[in-house]
Amino acid sequence: MPARILEGKPIAQRIRADVANRAYELRDNAIVPQLSIFVGEGDEEGTYYANSLNKIGSRCGIDVSIDTIARGGGTKAFCAAVARAAANHKVHGIIIQRPLPTEFEHIEITRAIPVEKDVDGETALSIGWLAQGVPHFVPATAAAVIEVLREPGLPQIAGARTVVIGRSAVVGRPVAYMLTAADATVTLCHSRTRDLEMICRSADIVVAAIGKPRFVGAGMIKRGSVVVDVGTNLIDGQVVGDVDAESVSQIAGALTPVPGGVGVVTTSILLRNVIAAAEHGTI
Ligand code: NAP
Repeated sequence: MPARILEGKPIAQRIRADVANRAYELRDNAIVPQLSIFVGEGDEEGTYYANSLNKIGSRCGIDVSIDTIARGGGTKAFCAAVARAAANHKVHGIIIQRPLPTEFEHIEITRAIPVEKDVDGETALSIGWLAQGVPHFVPATAAAVIEVLREPGLPQIAGARTVVIGRSAVVGRPVAYMLTAADATVTLCHSRTRDLEMICRSADIVVAAIGKPRFVGAGMIKRGSVVVDVGTNLIDGQVVGDVDAESVSQIAGALTPVPGGVGVVTTSILLRNVIAAAEHGTI
């Protein structure tokens, strides 16, 4: 039987409905939820993502501002711009679009984001909380993976053997932390992992966050397992995942599509974090 396709859209719509309700409640109390996004000059992908957050945010009652930081000013100028947003009580959430052009140091810049406005879990403090198993805000993509895995009808995360392929700070590691917190048994793999195929074949859940188109094939998957494809790779103008959906869907029990899977859930979760930050600021 072909795999169940875990569409992100219904999950995203559910989250957005909740976001919109909460946003309008805040607005009724004269609080306008606001997200401030910083993009490095020339980052087309980041600008595209920021614009789509702006579009979705405006439908949900969240104001989004986008600041493009010019090249040449270096990390110091970037930090100063972020610090201004941090000091602005009207701004509830701040994100810095990654990857930044090489002249900017992301870790240094995140020091200007107060943890209560760190809606994409970028700062060392947020990551530290997550690693401790006491998450505050977590990176939205990682949270989207977990949200998808909690869909009704899927096997329990607790106790499941899970393999995460990719150990980036933005996806792989936070996913591994969140799965660990959810009581899964987690193996975190990367480019130096030996016997990757064999390790993956032992997994009840595989999360692919590699950045290599169709890297995960049917030979790496246990029959009936759940496969979450985080990858977004542009090939001939088309977005394809890190999983070879055609072959894997014949073996897996469930699979997220690309596009239309984790990505759409990610943006909704980010906006939900902005609402949480705005609500928290009202307490
Ligand atoms: P990244 O920073 O480039 O990290 C890629 C990871 O994959 C690294 O840990 C790397 O290992 C590992 N890797 C590379 N080749 C491998 C191989 N042959 N075998 C095993 N592991 C290998 O990428 P990222 O930022 O995590 O993004 C991963 C993918 O997710 C990309 O396609 C990106 O576009 C996508 N993404 C999607 C969303 C969303 O919301 N849907 C958000 C963010 C990213 P090493 O550490 O050893 O180098």
